Amino acid sequence: MSQSAVQRITVLGSTGSIGKSTLDVIARYPDRYHVYALTAHTSKEVLFTQCNAHRPSIAVLNDPADAVWLQHALASVGLDIEVLVGPEALCHVAQDPNVDTVMAAIVGAAGLLPALAAAESGKRVLLANKEALVMSGALFMDAVSRSGATLLPIDSEHNAIYQCLPIEHRGGLRQHGVRQLLLTASGGPFRGWQADDIAKVTPEQACHHPNWSMGRKISVDSATLMNKGLELIEACWLFDATPDQIQVVVHPQSVIHSMVAYDDGSVIAQLGNPDMRTPIAYGLAWPERIDAGVETLDLFQVARLDFEAPDELLFPCLRLAREAMHKGGAAPAILNAANEIAVEAFLEKQLGFSAIADVVASVMALPFEEQADTLEQILAADQWAREQAERLVHQQAV
Ligand code: NAD
Ligand code: MG
Repeated sequence: MSQSAVQRITVLGSTGSIGKSTLDVIARYPDRYHVYALTAHTSKEVLFTQCNAHRPSIAVLNDPADAVWLQHALASVGLDIEVLVGPEALCHVAQDPNVDTVMAAIVGAAGLLPALAAAESGKRVLLANKEALVMSGALFMDAVSRSGATLLPIDSEHNAIYQCLPIEHRGGLRQHGVRQLLLTASGGPFRGWQADDIAKVTPEQACHHPNWSMGRKISVDSATLMNKGLELIEACWLFDATPDQIQVVVHPQSVIHSMVAYDDGSVIAQLGNPDMRTPIAYGLAWPERIDAGVETLDLFQVARLDFEAPDELLFPCLRLAREAMHKGGAAPAILNAANEIAVEAFLEKQLGFSAIADVVASVMALPFEEQADTLEQILAADQWAREQAERLVHQQAV
């Protein structure tokens, strides 16, 4: 695609936190970006409003009855937009030849197949959905290199690292003089709390992040530090790093989004206000830079930057994720699936906060089929871990 051509974009998960921020950036550049498809799970009213504002060619919902509702609502305002239904439709709009760029912003394992479809068909893939890489890192990165897709990380830490690395960093970090990746973490809303108090927290408290406004699942992951664990695995795949080359640094102000330490002693950091429109705009415009609607960081207002080591005793999920990456094979997919079930149960008030890590640890301690070379094996491991986690949640709840 030439620099001057309009980028045609599919936004997977357009009604979520990342999806909305993406549309906010896109709306600032009508001559540069055209929305080709928007997708949502159940939020049909929000999707209708977005269709009205962005006039895509295709909209996707999960439920046929919701799709009929949307089709009627669109027709009543004179909009001719094709409405498609279900998971196959998500893959269809991710690999459609009319699309240049795919924002992969569906939450959880549900985002894997469409993100993979975008990677396989050589798109510019703006990857927000970290679970896809956690589950199938080898397959995903292989699909990217085979198809010639351009993979741009949107997770703020990985976007920061990407910005701090030399342009050509493939083929191992060591050969580019990189000593370590420093993955920053806010520490979540319960940093410094006592174990007894943490055990009693509610979903509302867990979803109230001190610095970032995000979807509910990732907010809980941030509170347990599983988010940082998933991000550690994500960084290993994106940057061809080992878990030992990555240090997690708790930085409560969330102003440094991550850093790269080089052999000569240099540490390069990316800073900015905690607003996802910055990495989203970076991904949309790369290698150019555009105004994302984000204020320049006011360092006098920030005043100080603090750093501390993560408390892995209080927040065992980070350790569990590191172990899963060391183990390899199906272990990260199993960790992810067990976590998704446990977080859902916590949000439904069927499980205590501290039991999220217990459920994940218990599922990971069960004997399982370690092979994960094919998509079928990964999906089977995911399914198996979900069943085991559901059984454990049920046992804990009774
Ligand atoms: P969210 O819950 O706000 O939005 C999720 C979107 O996915 C919605 O549009 C929803 O309709 C759709 N969706 C949910 N389940 C689906 C299913 N089964 N099938 C199809 N669509 C489905 O989530 P979010 O905070 O925007 O996060 C999205 C992804 O980006 C996650 O993987 C998250 O880890 C990652 N991420 C988010 C942030 C952030 O600041 N929010 C930062 C970094 C990474
Ligand atoms: Mg992040």
